[in-house]
Amino acid sequence: MLNRRNFLKIAGAVGAGMFLDLYGSDVVKAIEQAGEKGVKLVWIQGQSDSGCTISLLQGQHPDIYDAIMKLNVDIRFHPTIMAAQGEEAMKALDIEPDVLVVEGSIPDPKFAAMGERPVIDILKELAAKTKIAVVAVGACATYGGIPAAHGNVTNSVGVQYHKSKKGGALGADFKSKAGLPVVNLPGDPAHPDHVLLTLSAVILGVIPELDDKGRPKLFFNDLIHNQCARRGFYDKGLLAASFHETDFSYEKCLYNLGCRGPVTNSDCAFRKWNGGINVCMNGGAPCIGCFNEGFPDDMSPLFQPIEKVPTLLGINAVDAGKVAVAVTAAGIAAHAIRRGITKKPGREEEEK
Ligand code: SF4
Repeated sequence: MLNRRNFLKIAGAVGAGMFLDLYGSDVVKAIEQAGEKGVKLVWIQGQSDSGCTISLLQGQHPDIYDAIMKLNVDIRFHPTIMAAQGEEAMKALDIEPDVLVVEGSIPDPKFAAMGERPVIDILKELAAKTKIAVVAVGACATYGGIPAAHGNVTNSVGVQYHKSKKGGALGADFKSKAGLPVVNLPGDPAHPDHVLLTLSAVILGVIPELDDKGRPKLFFNDLIHNQCARRGFYDKGLLAASFHETDFSYEKCLYNLGCRGPVTNSDCAFRKWNGGINVCMNGGAPCIGCFNEGFPDDMSPLFQPIEKVPTLLGINAVDAGKVAVAVTAAGIAAHAIRRGITKKPGREEEEK
């Protein structure tokens, strides 16, 4: 049973102790109320491909089995992994969750339903009853993601944001019964460590410190660019000119191939994926900014350097076409300035 006595031990065992080390603990009453029955967790999906669930199932720090067993979690509803179906499954939603997890964006009521009811109605009903926290998992649930991209035919929004603007499906003022705004864990998909560590901490009553986008600062405080293994190449001005030079042995940075690491906050370059084995930039793929609240629109066109992306120069996508010529000129100037600051002799120049 989860109680104050074994709290620190369990927090350490599931890795949530890192929140304690940095931010101190705030054990809420909900834990004791959960008692022997366990913390009731409900996981619902809006417009989603279940990618965040798949990512979560691959987590290793802790893995999901450890997290469920040690934290005494009672998963009442999860459409991808639960055995119950149809009406029987929908009856499981007739509870007051301790933690509500949302995966996928929330569309206009006429576009997506769980059973007979629009997702947004179920979300609002469950969120209003949630005792500890609502956690939005992935690019779509946090800020709208791909379903809310340009065109947005289903009028999708995130749970408490639409792109960088607070509001979303639940509204800017929403708070759980414990007084928490929605905790945002972006990423396409969300990183399993971010999900399991945050859920572990929240279930233990440790409230992560959030930034102004609702994200735990612990994971999203720094730019990917600052922790990237190719950063030394960037600082020396060693920039790959084509995808033929992306193998790490070429010792080139992927900036000119459209890397969004310099404008995207996350610790994934340090944490890596697949059990800490690799991350996009190390594998030769420029970061596409999937943790960014503006993903994918503000990151597009992908594979173009930042100077050629109007939204990253502060120009909205609608106006971008009108000022294309000016942007190109501004881009060339910006690039020249940046190269002037960062360029040091490259390998080819040193070899001359
Ligand atoms: S590959 Fe991307 S994140 Fe890494 S140093 Fe280059 S620009 Fe920065």
